[in-house]
Amino acid sequence: MSSPDLTDSEREAVLEVLRTPRLSMGPRLEAFETGVARRVGAKHAIGVSSGTAGLHLAALAAGIGDGDLVITTPFSFVASANVLLYERAVPVFVDVDPQTGNIDPALVEDAVHDLLKSGERRQRRLPRRGAADGALKALLVVDAFGQPADYDRLMKEAKTHSLSVIEDACEAFGAEYNGRPAGMFGDVGVFAFYPNKQMTTGEGGVIVTSRDDWAVKIQSLRNQGRAPGDTWLQHTYLGYNYRLDEMSAALGAAQLERFDELLSRRARVADWYGERIAEIPGVSALPMAPTTTMMSWFVYVVRLDPALQRAEVARRLEADGIPSRPYFTPIHLQPYFVERFGYAEGDFPVAEDLGRRTLALPFSGVMTEEQVDEVCRAVRGAL
Ligand SMILES: *Cc1c(COP(=O)(O)O)cnc(C)c1O
Repeated sequence: MSSPDLTDSEREAVLEVLRTPRLSMGPRLEAFETGVARRVGAKHAIGVSSGTAGLHLAALAAGIGDGDLVITTPFSFVASANVLLYERAVPVFVDVDPQTGNIDPALVEDAVHDLLKSGERRQRRLPRRGAADGALKALLVVDAFGQPADYDRLMKEAKTHSLSVIEDACEAFGAEYNGRPAGMFGDVGVFAFYPNKQMTTGEGGVIVTSRDDWAVKIQSLRNQGRAPGDTWLQHTYLGYNYRLDEMSAALGAAQLERFDELLSRRARVADWYGERIAEIPGVSALPMAPTTTMMSWFVYVVRLDPALQRAEVARRLEADGIPSRPYFTPIHLQPYFVERFGYAEGDFPVAEDLGRRTLALPFSGVMTEEQVDEVCRAVRGAL
């Protein structure tokens, strides 16, 4: 489905680390963090062992805990809601915009309004079970498929009600919303660098924030709860080992050097797809919001017309040797969420509709135009 875009400069950068004795907590991590901070204009950038680890620490920095309510999207990779469960908080899902698949700001405003009340209106917003009477604490916003959510309205709403905002920009490193970088809208933003993302560290992620106190807390929690001034075996807080090793950081720094090239190679492949998909009846490309002034292509998804059977289309593609994936199964319908919170089909109809009709096609910056052609011919044939 995807392939990292690597050259000898990345390979040499990793080998270089292996010629030194410093394999963790060394100069490569600092260099990589500085590079990411500079790229997006963040005051603090903190490398971590995965995007999921980054989101978990972001939730801890925001003070999210037992029973707290957090408004988030059901149309995402499961990690964005899981990190709330790690802290026994309750994800309150709000449906998404049918075009972009990002959380719908108008529905967020309605949900905030209801949740700040008591009684029936509030109750209707909560999951059927597993929610105590916690307070609304934060928004956890996801930039789906590399397209930023609608931050003007979301941030205004958050400010009005003093809610923290966590930005899951794990799919959107390099994207821009009205000329400003994804990851920089909330109190804290998280990027992820798994091998299928726009750039990779193998496993890894980076947290960005402009809040000094949150940065100190995050740095401490990723490193076993050692507070500034603690010695190696002193642990002021309950911490984790969420560190990013030096080989991964070196790979990240080398990828970051090539990041504009990586993005433009992905955009070129997406353009090849776009031209062909537009000519095939029954499928459509992902619509772009006018606020998306820079798209950072993460996956290439198409939407099938409602009458088509996606599973059958995928089967026919597979028979032609073309892999494809349903994208996303909404989080509220994942078995664990159904069991714990009692979510059911019909709860978030837009996310469910997109979840039923969206198919991800093979995509990476190293694909050739001939390969895109081959995939699109198979798509046409399957339809
Ligand atoms: C990739 C991704 C993450 C983090 O994934 P890791 O594999 O833990 O790095 C989180 N949220 C979303 C929406 C993602 O796509």
